[in-house]
Amino acid sequence: MKEIVIKDKRFNLYISPKQIRQRLDDLSHELNKAYHSKNPVLLIVLNGAFIFAADLIRALEVDPQTQFIRISSYEDEMQSSGKVRQVFGQDMPLTGRHVLIVEDIVDTGHTARYLRELLQEQHPASVAMVSLLFKPEAFEGGTPPEYVGFEIPPDFVVGYGLDYAQLGRELQGIYRLAEGG
Ligand code: 5GP
Repeated sequence: MKEIVIKDKRFNLYISPKQIRQRLDDLSHELNKAYHSKNPVLLIVLNGAFIFAADLIRALEVDPQTQFIRISSYEDEMQSSGKVRQVFGQDMPLTGRHVLIVEDIVDTGHTARYLRELLQEQHPASVAMVSLLFKPEAFEGGTPPEYVGFEIPPDFVVGYGLDYAQLGRELQGIYRLAEGG
């Protein structure tokens, strides 16, 4: 198994670039059907979702408009702090629009809940979330992501946009923290 070192931690390849591409094909077919003629607004959650969103948006055929929002909760740690704060927000009116939130990963679900509540204030026609990764065992409730790339165990992962201390985002696959770190 391919092992890499980032800063002080060892990681093993967990999801290969090929597996990501194949899953993205299926996800984009599903989304193209669900959002046909809906011209959704893709609300891309920075920083981690930028690579997933870049690949996804180019596979969508639904005339999406894009907006970015930055939320922080981890602050360079490997555990979710549980606190969610908005760092900068999007400014497009969303009333009556179909909003698709694009996330890298849903862990406890705090960020997702915060985002959905924030969006409801603007009375969109619909809100759904596509998340590349979902950790069902870590999820603490609320609405789970409607579209999921991969369900994974509650382990720390990096790559394909996800970082460890701002490192590793450029990796083409997804790597999981090795046993014993
Ligand atoms: P939640 O609010 O669902 O607990 O956490 C969501 C955010 O925590 C994600 O958008 C991501 O930034 C970060 N996060 C959760 N799990 C991981 C992980 O395994 N690796 C990395 N790099 N970030 C994670």
